[in-house]
Amino acid sequence: MRIDVFTLFPGLVDGFCSDSLLGKARDNDLLDLRLHDPRDHTSDVHRTVDDAPFGGGAGMLMKPEPLFASVEAADPPRPLFLLGPGGRTFDQGMARELAELDGFSLLCGRYEGVDHRVRRHLVDDELSIGDVVLNGGEVAACLVVEAVVRLLPGAMGNAESPVTESFGASGLLEEPHFTRPADFRGWSVPDVLRSGDHARVARWRHAQALHRTIAARPDLIDARGGLTDDDRALLEEFPPHPYH
Ligand code: SAH
Repeated sequence: MRIDVFTLFPGLVDGFCSDSLLGKARDNDLLDLRLHDPRDHTSDVHRTVDDAPFGGGAGMLMKPEPLFASVEAADPPRPLFLLGPGGRTFDQGMARELAELDGFSLLCGRYEGVDHRVRRHLVDDELSIGDVVLNGGEVAACLVVEAVVRLLPGAMGNAESPVTESFGASGLLEEPHFTRPADFRGWSVPDVLRSGDHARVARWRHAQALHRTIAARPDLIDARGGLTDDDRALLEEFPPHPYH
């Protein structure tokens, strides 16, 4: 997958995407990450990328010329997304959609954002990582790259993980997990997980995923069409395991 990122701070994105599983995905040619600095497409001696807003007001805006020139020179894979708090909220469903593509691109804003003509005439859509304001789009870009690339076949150690984890095929949050020791400071692992009865373990896990989702994210239960009769039976069979 090719992902092009346009940013005034390519080092931030490159550094984040060089370690751990993303770094491996790049080494294994699963991810072809290309970074472009619009500052390389300025023509003045100060390499200016920002200017004051028409009509006055606080802060500076990214000028259109270096952004258009940078994108046009790179001819990046489309869709090209502007990162911005006013965009469509990025979520796991969108990560799955993007993971089906051969590539896409991200444009990071800085200052008070970009000249509106960039939004209207250069990018294809706008993505937000949530109702929060960052100093720039770089952290948001890293978030999108990580969420998408980990879904590519071969990018993760365990191919099952994207199926069973939160927001996966079940539409539920994940159940609580435990590793050794079986008893830690008097807090012990549920007996069922050590019973060797795999069918019972699977039922316990599904019940706990349901309990947790009902308590923490009832909207996800609604989104999957409420509870089935099987779900209700499981909830009765297994009481909620405390997870707070
Ligand atoms: N003045 C703008 C905020 C600009 S923040 C406003 O009030 O809407 C500067 C840059 O940070 C933005 O151009 C965008 O690229 C990035 N950014 C900030 N918050 C973001 C968010 N929630 N999601 C994605 N990008 C964000």
